[in-house]
Amino acid sequence: MKIKHFDVVVVGAGPAGLMAAEELAQRGVHVAVLERDQIPGKEKPCGGFLTAKGMVDGRIPLSLAERVTSGVSISISKQPLRQVNYENPIGVQLTREALGTYLCKRARKNGVEVYLNHEVIECKRDNGCWKITVRDTPYTVQSPLLVGADGVSSTVARLTGLRRRFTRNQLGITIQARVELSPATITERFGKRMEFYYGSNICPFGYAWIFPKHDCLYVGIGSLLSATTTSLDSYLTYFIQGHPIASTQLEGGRVSKIERALVPLTYRTGSYGEALLLVGDAAGHCSAITGEGLHYSIAAGRIAGRIGADCLARSDVSARMLRRYEHLWQREIGNDLKWGVRLRNLFFRGSQTESISFGMGLDYRFLKLAADLIVGFRSYRDLVLQAAPLFLWHRVRGLGRAKGSN
Ligand SMILES: Cc1cc2nc3c(=O)[nH]c(=O)nc-3n(C[C@H](O)[C@H](O)[C@H](O)COP(=O)(O)OP(=O)(O)OC[C@H]3O[C@@H](n4cnc5c(N)ncnc54)[C@H](O)[C@@H]3O)c2cc1C
Repeated sequence: MKIKHFDVVVVGAGPAGLMAAEELAQRGVHVAVLERDQIPGKEKPCGGFLTAKGMVDGRIPLSLAERVTSGVSISISKQPLRQVNYENPIGVQLTREALGTYLCKRARKNGVEVYLNHEVIECKRDNGCWKITVRDTPYTVQSPLLVGADGVSSTVARLTGLRRRFTRNQLGITIQARVELSPATITERFGKRMEFYYGSNICPFGYAWIFPKHDCLYVGIGSLLSATTTSLDSYLTYFIQGHPIASTQLEGGRVSKIERALVPLTYRTGSYGEALLLVGDAAGHCSAITGEGLHYSIAAGRIAGRIGADCLARSDVSARMLRRYEHLWQREIGNDLKWGVRLRNLFFRGSQTESISFGMGLDYRFLKLAADLIVGFRSYRDLVLQAAPLFLWHRVRGLGRAKGSN
């Protein structure tokens, strides 16, 4: 069987994999990306909101934007939407196909060899070299270093045994509809805002979103898998057709596509092994409270590329050397991911949430903090410090109200 040799093989052409590959190639490393789909990003269910921070980190041009976003509207427990507007853009609405195609082109320009329609089905390490088998190809691919950037159900993680499968308590389940609406109606109803909906009527342990694109809306619901006992389909139907505010915002729209997907909602270490790195969703680089993963994947991908290239230059891809990758991503994005899990457990917990969040929904200071977090303007730690007194105040009031109504 023919063999193709590279210094590094990256599995998966999502933002994590393409950023890692680009960083490696820019440092003179011979790198291949193996992607199972024909068009990077096209099949990936995603809301497609990229924060301004993610744009800067990934050097993503404004020209990819379907719409520029500069405001967030939040509704809690069927209360009217309340707006938090920003002076400057807070991020962009894009499609994953546009992002994937752009990053792929850029990676190739930097010397990365991207192989589409290449699904990795086996990887084994033998004599200091990874031997990677791709479905229906007459060759194997070999490299001294392997990067698993193949998403939440990572084949690389499973085949190499680097991490156990995510448990139901570490995964979110999502459903997202594409709703067709004219660009003029979208502009009139949403302006430059995107919308978030919270409350137990939306879903048991999560939230709903409406992200306006050029000529359609991405309407989704996400919930912690372990807390979800029935399919999210009925929640989505209610949200689109029966929710007093959302149904008005979506009036006249036509659902053209529905997708379902998992998303990691956890904080995990152990993203490196002997000659092996996991990046992006494969490593759990996604916020447990917002489900935002694009920026974290981009950031972790870049770090993986830098460290991988450095280790190859020293001819040492041992776990001991690659450990620096985990140290660096922990320093850059680890705090957000850790606090995301804590906040998730605090805010989406049990029946008290309703009365607490009701009170908070009326408090603009809290709304502003929440919006700052969603758009990446505030670190999670900072949010906790600012929100803790407000939270305690509303918790006491909320519990008081709940007691009074018993
Ligand atoms: C419904 C939904 C909405 C979301 N909305 C947002 C949002 O608005 N903003 C945000 O920041 N984040 C959002 N996220 C999270 C975000 O999509 C992910 O965190 C991000 O895509 C992770 O990037 P990645 O490169 O790690 O993985 P992915 O984007 O999943 O890329 C993995 C790639 O690996 C490929 N692959 C998988 N297995 C193999 C294999 N065996 N061989 C070869 N290739 C393989 C896949 O085809 C895919 O291209 C959302 C997630 C979901 C599910």
